[in-house]
Amino acid sequence: MIRPAPLVEAIEPMTPFIGPEELMRETGRSSLVRLGANESAFGPSPRAVTAMAAELERLAWYGDPESYELREALARKHGCRVEEVLVGAGIDDLMGLAVRAFVAPGAAALTTRGSYPTLNYHVNGYGGRLVYAHYRTDGRLDLDELVTVATRERAALIYLANPDNPSGTFVDRNEMQRFFEAMPHDVVFLLDEAYADFVDESSLLPMHVEDRLIRTRTFSKAYGLAGARIGYAITTERVIGILQKIRLHYGVNRNAQIGALASLSDEPFRRHVVESVAQAREDYYALGRELGLGSIESFTNFVCIDLGDPSRATAVMNALLRDHGVWIRKPGLPPLDRYVRVSAGTPPMREAFAAAFRDVVSAVPSLHA
Ligand SMILES: *Cc1c(COP(=O)(O)O)cnc(C)c1O
Repeated sequence: MIRPAPLVEAIEPMTPFIGPEELMRETGRSSLVRLGANESAFGPSPRAVTAMAAELERLAWYGDPESYELREALARKHGCRVEEVLVGAGIDDLMGLAVRAFVAPGAAALTTRGSYPTLNYHVNGYGGRLVYAHYRTDGRLDLDELVTVATRERAALIYLANPDNPSGTFVDRNEMQRFFEAMPHDVVFLLDEAYADFVDESSLLPMHVEDRLIRTRTFSKAYGLAGARIGYAITTERVIGILQKIRLHYGVNRNAQIGALASLSDEPFRRHVVESVAQAREDYYALGRELGLGSIESFTNFVCIDLGDPSRATAVMNALLRDHGVWIRKPGLPPLDRYVRVSAGTPPMREAFAAAFRDVVSAVPSLHA
């Protein structure tokens, strides 16, 4: 009998994410109102589409393994050096490199229980030990607890998404600076800024590089290139040299490099998306208020709406899919599991969601009513 490596054998079988395509097969629907994965409803920049279309015939070629032109443009954008930028197949890919490089088997990787789960799959896959802090009851990250647990567990890596997913909450510059100083200084801080485009750069940790800080960004959210799979990390040349040793040299899609580069030159488009997303958030808050439901103030392209208890939130999510073909998701763990999470849609998608949501919420009673 063939056997997997013990590390892999020890991992419980799981489906980390049921995609909308699978849900369409299961429900026999040919389309869904797709508001479950925080994809951009506003598409890629037309400039990116034109540039990618023009280069399609050269898909016979591999992309530049150094992603040089893109890194150059990113270095200009962020005021850092080309050597301080690493391009990967999305943040999910870069996160795997950071875990593999810095979390030895048995070493502790610290995250917030219920936050963006891809880190956890990598830590399990590379034999690290997951340790957790918890969300505060208001859905905010507990920075004090993160410091305490990192110290106690001698964490090798701390992961935090800012703005956060799935809560949508945000830690501002001053608070983040204090946190970065308060944590043990021999820990790698993996700062996932997937939603950075939706907040002011001046409210984020200032752009500087040091070995203990790896920050990641993506073209999947505001730039609408999730399917192209492209993102980047900013850190020191030394840390990038470490990640270079294990990265897949030809892992980045050539067309994604071209689309990402063209996107960077279309700042008006990004601003348009950010403004449209802000309007969508306002619509969702208002819809919640109309139905007597609170929301968590969001700094991302999604909003968490409070259904009061986890079973009601689950029932609402399921009924939206089953009866209306509206796909949203919900956080799985307390204290956020009483919320549903809805991505920012276009105005017609928001109308479809609002009509379905009104219908379903009135039909699914609250435990506390
Ligand atoms: C969407 C998301 C990602 C995934 O980014 P990719 O570049 O598409 O891999 C990473 N982190 C967070 C917090 C996200 O919400």
